[in-house]
Amino acid sequence: MAGYFTPHLDPMPAAVPPPVGTVTHANRRSRVLVPSSLACLSTLPTVNLTAGCLHGCVYCYARAYSGYPGDGVAVLYEDLPQRLERELSRAKSRPHAVYFSPSSDLFQPHPDIQRCAEEVLEILFRHRVGVVFLTKGAIAEASMRLLETHAGLVQAQVGLLSTDAALASTFEPGAASPPARLEQMRRLVAAGIPTVARVDPILPGISDGDEAFDRLFRAVRDTGVRDASAGILYTRPGIVAGLRRASGSMASRVPAMLSRFPGERNMGLRGAGTTVIALPEQERMQIIERVSRHAIEHGIRLRVCACKNADIASGTCGIAGAWRRPMRSHQLTLSL
Ligand code: SF4
Repeated sequence: MAGYFTPHLDPMPAAVPPPVGTVTHANRRSRVLVPSSLACLSTLPTVNLTAGCLHGCVYCYARAYSGYPGDGVAVLYEDLPQRLERELSRAKSRPHAVYFSPSSDLFQPHPDIQRCAEEVLEILFRHRVGVVFLTKGAIAEASMRLLETHAGLVQAQVGLLSTDAALASTFEPGAASPPARLEQMRRLVAAGIPTVARVDPILPGISDGDEAFDRLFRAVRDTGVRDASAGILYTRPGIVAGLRRASGSMASRVPAMLSRFPGERNMGLRGAGTTVIALPEQERMQIIERVSRHAIEHGIRLRVCACKNADIASGTCGIAGAWRRPMRSHQLTLSL
């Protein structure tokens, strides 16, 4: 059984959906704190709690990774908290912050993963290491309270494509509902945690309608969030296979969306040394223009992922957060 279980933890709150899929346990073979190859994440070590992710988003880029364990399965690194503790205790210079890798999710709908997430957060905060995470999940109450208590060490990003429940259940079947994510954003903001709405990936022809963008940014604004980032779907063979397996009321729209991706349009991902298939530049520019306009109309500052759109965007989408400078443990401050 997992060595990270601690009996003082609160029961899972009602907001966290019941477990979906299967969790298997494994020991980590390599270091916990590892740099990412993506240019936008190169400034922070990233932490992966699991290989695979129970949210099962059908567009998930991680499906194309070699260690992907298959749909509905997450491999939880059960010795990760102990390894992390050792690495941080021995480190000559501790990182000022870590990023929880976007190829899994810290707050997946399984009690083992949520408990491990809580233990990892406790360790990081004890060492005064800041955290940046991107989640589409429901944050268990115990972890939410930890985040609130250590608000000065936290930067949050909440993935939200749409306020539409049918769209979310088709494309992100295991993730928290849009209202639950919005409520979490409200709570994070209320705690003083810099929080960004991550509208990524925009699904061309499905989630990029003007009315949908309007509803989305209105809802985001109402939570108190004032920053968002956006990216547009790109494909690879593994991603296309996942999209084709979508089920749910909006799955019938997938073939038309995929037909818009010309096979020969390869785009490099900055820093990743790999290429993906993107929408033609003109189409991406039009979508970015519209999403930006809607964000501005609702008083939301929008950044576009330049790692995935080096031809039309510059700068960073801010995925690694905005840390003023590498800090000693007692000096950590944020600047969004
Ligand atoms: S939450 Fe992120 S890592 Fe998990 S399935 Fe969805 S896209 Fe993939």
